[in-house]
Amino acid sequence: MLDFFSIFSKGGIVLWCFQGTSQIFTSSVNALIKAVILQERTGQLSYDHDNVTLKYKLDNEFELVYVVAYQKILQLSYVDKFLNDIHLEFRDAYKNELQLQQFGRKFEINEMFNSILKSAEDWGRLQAAAPKMMKSFEESQKSKKTVASMIERKGDDKENKKVKKVEIKVPEVKPEIIQNVELSEEDIIQQKRREFAEKMAAGKNKSKPPTEKLKSPKATSKKSKESRVWPLGGAPKDMETLDYTKDKDIGESPLPQQAVYLPDPKSVGTLQGEVRDMDFESESEEEEQQEEGTTDYVPKQVTQQKKQTGIFSLFKNLVGSKTITEEVMTPVLDKMRDHLIAKNVASEIAGKLCDSVAAKLNGKVLGTFESLANTVKASLTESLVQILSPRRRVDILRDVFESQRQNRPYVMSFCGVNGVGKSTNLAKICFWLIENNFRVLIAACDTFRAGAVEQLRTHMRHLNSIHPPEKHGGRQMVQLYEKGYGKDAAGIALEAINYARDGGIDVVMIDTAGRMQDNEPLMRALAKLIKVNEPDLVLFVGEALVGNEAVDQLVKFNQALADYSNSENPHTIDGIVLTKFDTIDDKKLSVKAKDVAHKLSMCSFYVRIGKLNEDLKKNRPKKLRRLWNHCSQ
Ligand code: GDP
Repeated sequence: MLDFFSIFSKGGIVLWCFQGTSQIFTSSVNALIKAVILQERTGQLSYDHDNVTLKYKLDNEFELVYVVAYQKILQLSYVDKFLNDIHLEFRDAYKNELQLQQFGRKFEINEMFNSILKSAEDWGRLQAAAPKMMKSFEESQKSKKTVASMIERKGDDKENKKVKKVEIKVPEVKPEIIQNVELSEEDIIQQKRREFAEKMAAGKNKSKPPTEKLKSPKATSKKSKESRVWPLGGAPKDMETLDYTKDKDIGESPLPQQAVYLPDPKSVGTLQGEVRDMDFESESEEEEQQEEGTTDYVPKQVTQQKKQTGIFSLFKNLVGSKTITEEVMTPVLDKMRDHLIAKNVASEIAGKLCDSVAAKLNGKVLGTFESLANTVKASLTESLVQILSPRRRVDILRDVFESQRQNRPYVMSFCGVNGVGKSTNLAKICFWLIENNFRVLIAACDTFRAGAVEQLRTHMRHLNSIHPPEKHGGRQMVQLYEKGYGKDAAGIALEAINYARDGGIDVVMIDTAGRMQDNEPLMRALAKLIKVNEPDLVLFVGEALVGNEAVDQLVKFNQALADYSNSENPHTIDGIVLTKFDTIDDKKLSVKAKDVAHKLSMCSFYVRIGKLNEDLKKNRPKKLRRLWNHCSQ
């Protein structure tokens, strides 16, 4: 018998609900949403929570979820059929309303529900009475095998394998893994890795259990083959350090040292004032000086030959006494566009650059190659400066002073996908703010990723030890506002802002959970956080490493904030923090920077963060030599 059935939208609106008992299913449904639907672990269509089994069906066309709940001990064979039937019938009956997303209207489906449930139950009874048929392959256990579970290892007998399979489905076996979440393929691989590492650490002879090894005295005296240590394989001893699920002793760092940002001791006390400008220096000083000291673009024969093989050689047919027209330029510009795209420049930007060159050359007569090259160069530079110039100037320090005057904290929020460096670079910006004598409250609103709060606590401790209260008239410069995990991020941010206002703290920095740009529920949650808390600055954190993917993320984050905010004048992204420049080579650096920066012309402010422990640098669009060099060769 079904205890509960509901149809709700992925955005959280309940369209219809049936409750057969007085038991409250809210926590089970919430757990399903959190552990399965939000995490998009929707491969399995069943989820157990406490003593309840939840079965669900997703309708991706209308973004609906159909959920059934019943007691775990029951074996209800008809539930899948029921879900399929009601899904089809409901969407047929309300197709128009669903298309228009009129989820708020009343759906009268009592009759539909009762009749479909009855026929599904009858079908179930018939199935139970019918003689057992042979299972199809899809129904068999074999079809559900993962690649990981099929790896055979020496010493594993069949029984062991069976036990392992059960282990995978019942997470209690390994208490250090987050409970209540079915293991994904990646988790299984990690688990296998750990088992492998444990095995490697247990003894030199892999196939023999440790007891047998002890029996053989020769094994220690004879030099046998040493077990390989995999660079990222991990070992059981690392497990404790890597487990962020429990709060650790305040005295010790819960993070591996290399992952922690530590401000450069040399920069302590030197970062007052604006963020330093970023340089696009040429790799060799000599080259730079040569270019700086030259008025002509092609000063030497050798350089001329070199440059002529680049983008400018495309234009050589335009040199002459004839007026340059659109017609003669078209094939050249097409080639130039292809050339730029081949250099990994986003096609939109390539188009803009070509248009600017066309506008400069149209109607001109350029008798020498030099004059033509100079004209092309000038229009490219102009266009790049335009692309890289932020639309609105953001002066954080000035704005913080202004907020101080209004007796309210200045609020910045950081968003982006997982692992791009939000927390690390929040700490870098925090360091700069403290250097400017502002007190900061970090709001730990990533209530999802295990270890996120501890990571921020570690940053806070480091920053406070560099800028201890003694240096600042007894005031603690950084504090952390945290409410642990699983809570509503928007609410925590709101409380943090109120706390900062009451405590006279100058800046609140909101660290949000990483999310994929296409994950609608999470993007809605972010839009809500921003709408509720109205931060002064919304920063998107993207890693330079992923290039065009970062552009896609940025555009989609911006769009999602606009779409889901339910506000007439939504607050979208104000600026970007571009991280991990140290992980890409110079050529990519220039192109990716340009791609991202172009999209940023819609944003107003951007900073670049180089190496993990490098401090902030602000983009300076006038220094374009490196970008330009790359495009032109
Ligand atoms: P979050 O999940 O977005 O908060 O990302 P984290 O701040 O936890 O950073 C993810 C990883 O990227 C950590 O291992 C950081 O040490 C590393 N990281 C952050 N910024 C940089 C950077 O500028 N350069 C390099 N090489 N690594 C960085």
